[in-house]
Amino acid sequence: MRFASLGSGSRGNALLVEAGNTRVLIDAGFGPREMSRRLQRLGLSADDVDAVLVTHEHSDHIGGVFACARRFDWTVLLTHGTLAACRDDGADARTVIIDSHQSLSVGDICVNPFPVPHDAREPVQFVLTDGARRLGVLTDAGHVTAHMVAMLDACDALVLECNHDAKMLAAGSYPQALKRRIGGLWGHLENAAAASLLSQTGCASLRHVVAAHLSQENNSPALAQDALSAVLGCEADWIGVATQDEGFSWRDL
Ligand SMILES: [Zn+2]
Ligand SMILES: [Zn+2]
Repeated sequence: MRFASLGSGSRGNALLVEAGNTRVLIDAGFGPREMSRRLQRLGLSADDVDAVLVTHEHSDHIGGVFACARRFDWTVLLTHGTLAACRDDGADARTVIIDSHQSLSVGDICVNPFPVPHDAREPVQFVLTDGARRLGVLTDAGHVTAHMVAMLDACDALVLECNHDAKMLAAGSYPQALKRRIGGLWGHLENAAAASLLSQTGCASLRHVVAAHLSQENNSPALAQDALSAVLGCEADWIGVATQDEGFSWRDL
């Protein structure tokens, strides 16, 4: 099993996971042409992707989903609430409705969705496993819930939202209403909350931790790495950072 990011942040997200003969994307925040370009960097073409799992309807996650699905013949898996929030956009794509508490198989990958607190209709995040290894993915959550901690326990790799540093957000230039939304219970995870989540999960088997969905305005890679590395007692640069333009390259599990 291996995984890579095509880009992460408020201008577009897509995470690629491969196990056996199956490749799935989590989210597709890039249109078909940009998606193809980014897949090429990882040595793949759009035809190599079987399906896209959608976390929620915000455009940085779903912006390219239906155009790519139609163009590349991908199956789209999403919750009823997420599909309903898209209205007609998904009408002619091949969709599969998922239950936010029900595991399902996509080829050689077992997908375990779980609900998260975020200001979308029915947002979920995912733990993916090939039976031997577990990859936990969490972006776009306003706060840490006991259920999130339980789902992300004992993973071999974690991709964790480190959206903002609370002090930088408070001191930054965003309008007050936006600051309240981002920092609120249904907004985005700050570095300290991501660190708290990490400290509550079983870290013993972790081979990779990657900070993701960083705000370019209200965070820095170093702050996110410091927050997560303090929990694990590792070197700061052992913590990976998913960037907006590059994402990150393949990591093996
Ligand atoms: Zn969102
Ligand atoms: Zn987002």
